[in-house]
Amino acid sequence: MPASLIDGKAVAREIEAEVRAAISHLPFAPGLVAVRVGNDPASEIYVRNKAKKAQELGLRGNERVFPETMTEAELLAEVDRLNRDDEVDGILVQLPLPKQIDPQKVIDAVAPEKDVDGFHPINVGKLHLGRRTLAPCTPAGCIRLIESTGVPIAGANAVVIGRSDIVGKPMASLLLQRNATVTICHSKTRDLGAIARNADILIAAIGKARFVTAEMVKPGAVVIDVGINRGADGKLAGDVDFARVREVAGFITPVPGGVGPMTIAMLMKNTVTAAEWRRA
Ligand code: NAD
Repeated sequence: MPASLIDGKAVAREIEAEVRAAISHLPFAPGLVAVRVGNDPASEIYVRNKAKKAQELGLRGNERVFPETMTEAELLAEVDRLNRDDEVDGILVQLPLPKQIDPQKVIDAVAPEKDVDGFHPINVGKLHLGRRTLAPCTPAGCIRLIESTGVPIAGANAVVIGRSDIVGKPMASLLLQRNATVTICHSKTRDLGAIARNADILIAAIGKARFVTAEMVKPGAVVIDVGINRGADGKLAGDVDFARVREVAGFITPVPGGVGPMTIAMLMKNTVTAAEWRRA
């Protein structure tokens, strides 16, 4: 029997309903500012979609766009201004940044309580320690997708392929917090197939189209595909060989329509959470 599809759009709508409900109980509309530097076309679309979704859900979504020539000092000054602006609850600096700007310096400059991407070292540390924090949106969204299957995370063997700071590492922390037995695989891992085949929950965050084959998947496993790869034909493909893995897995996310819609929904949720915590 083919795997059940995990419908990311439907779960994202549930989160959006939670965001709307939370805002309706607040005496103010939380403010999210997305900062974009330069004219990267993909960033332009991402930021526009985020600002649009924020407004649709009742947040005050704002986009600040600066020229490609902006200096690091100018961007740091802008972040400082937003940190002090009491009307701003969440700050998001869209990556990548032009080469004259060190992204690490900018991430470190965002006030941790307004860091709705969950990238600031203080928030990363809190996540690692299992403390209350703003968790990175994509892995937090993956957790919600796994939860939507009803498959218990506690005690499960969870394998994360990829160890990036924005997906793989925080994904592993969030799974560990929920008492999974977690293994992280990466480009130097030996016999990755055998490790992956042991996973009750398999997360692919690699950036290589159809990397995860049916032979690497345990029958009945939950497979979450974070990858977004655009082929020569212009079509999107995940990191999982969807057509074949679907015949083996118990649950699987499609690409598009799986993890993608969750990222923006979790960003909205983080903004409301940041507003509630900061103004409590
Ligand atoms: P990254 O390039 O920073 O990290 C990729 C990871 O994959 C690395 O840790 C590397 O060790 C591992 N890797 C590379 N080749 C490997 C191999 N042969 N075997 C095992 N591991 C290997 O990428 P990222 O930022 O973590 O993103 C991963 C994918 O997820 C990309 O396709 C990206 O576009 C996508 N993504 C999607 C969303 C979303 O909202 N759906 C969000 C973020 C990233």
